[in-house]
Amino acid sequence: MKRIYLDYNATTPVRPEVLEALLPYYRDQFGNPSSVHWAGRQVAGAVEKAREQVAALINCSPAEIVFVSCGTEADNAALKGTVDALKAKGNHIITTAVEHPAVLETCRYLEKTGCRVTYLPVDADGMLDLDELERAITPETILISVMWANNETGTIFPIEQIGAIARRHGVRFHTDAVQAVGKLAIDVQQCNVDLLAISAHKLGAPKGVGVLYVRRGTRLTQFMHGGHQERNRRAGTHNVAGIVGLGKACELALAERETHAGRVRELRDRLERGIFEKIPNVKLNGHPTERLPNTLNVSFAWIEGESLLLNLDMKGIAASSGSACTSGSLEPSHVLGAMCVEVTLAHSSTRFSLGPDTTGEDVDYVLEVLPPIVQRLRDMSPLYNCRQQESCAGCETLKKL
Ligand SMILES: *Cc1c(COP(=O)(O)O)cnc(C)c1O
Repeated sequence: MKRIYLDYNATTPVRPEVLEALLPYYRDQFGNPSSVHWAGRQVAGAVEKAREQVAALINCSPAEIVFVSCGTEADNAALKGTVDALKAKGNHIITTAVEHPAVLETCRYLEKTGCRVTYLPVDADGMLDLDELERAITPETILISVMWANNETGTIFPIEQIGAIARRHGVRFHTDAVQAVGKLAIDVQQCNVDLLAISAHKLGAPKGVGVLYVRRGTRLTQFMHGGHQERNRRAGTHNVAGIVGLGKACELALAERETHAGRVRELRDRLERGIFEKIPNVKLNGHPTERLPNTLNVSFAWIEGESLLLNLDMKGIAASSGSACTSGSLEPSHVLGAMCVEVTLAHSSTRFSLGPDTTGEDVDYVLEVLPPIVQRLRDMSPLYNCRQQESCAGCETLKKL
């Protein structure tokens, strides 16, 4: 059976060049980079090279790169470390209602410890109102945390403008850039970003490594206590092979991002056009233009996203409904909820996220097998079969699509 992976926003395969670069660090280059002897020195150099490769991709100095264990840790360290370091200044955080759980759940936890959190709403395209953001700032505000691009819908936030607002008000700015790094041009200077989270496994490197960029002079209470690694900013022996792999992935992203993004966008647009041409009553979730080039989130009225996923899986196609972390629960996505997507439509949402290995044949295969699956599931749906009855309010909403 064909196997087609269209879930790159959940995780990515390790790129062959990345695997090649990191394998020696699982073989003979086994030293601890903190050791002073030859075995340690060998790998310490590799960690520093990776630091330079990551720094080059986001335009910062290598000393501002802190290696951590994952994107979730980077977000936790940014938020909790800021709240503690700036507690004399205030306790107010501004974020959005559509953040990844790594930020959202950390904020909920911080609320329990006495912080006040403003969760900015988004419009129907998942976009923020910057006036509303600016109005939310008070003298107590210590942090603005807004993701660069949304993992479920791909909607891209105006990070440069948000950075300018934060700077004007003297408020620290953190961005969860896990979905943006490798897909968009990232410049922390131009965007006035103080803290930024990266996850290796979202850009062709292994799982279990991440980065927190910390602008020079940004005081942050240490999150992990132990050894003196990462200039006392993050204790724990380095995941050397993972870090080397992430460095290589960043080097590749810097060289190839634009060509890859153009190719992926073309394929994504072909998939999007094909779906809207071949299947009636489909809704796009996310911004029509300000969207990651690889992401397509659509709702197929009258069907259950989970049943669609299982049927696609039987044809060898891996996609996702909502975010991978919440699928398996029957709660509709908090992102689509914040966009006021009608509940039954939120339940029928499906995310296709493409990557550098996606081919035109993959897209054509999806366009061949998807329409009959959707039709079969609709034929089985009681809602679909009663859609002619004027009295059914649920159907009225769906019919307007
Ligand atoms: C995947 C993801 C994370 C979490 O990264 P991990 O390395 O898996 O912990 C955080 N934020 C966003 C937007 C993500 O897509």
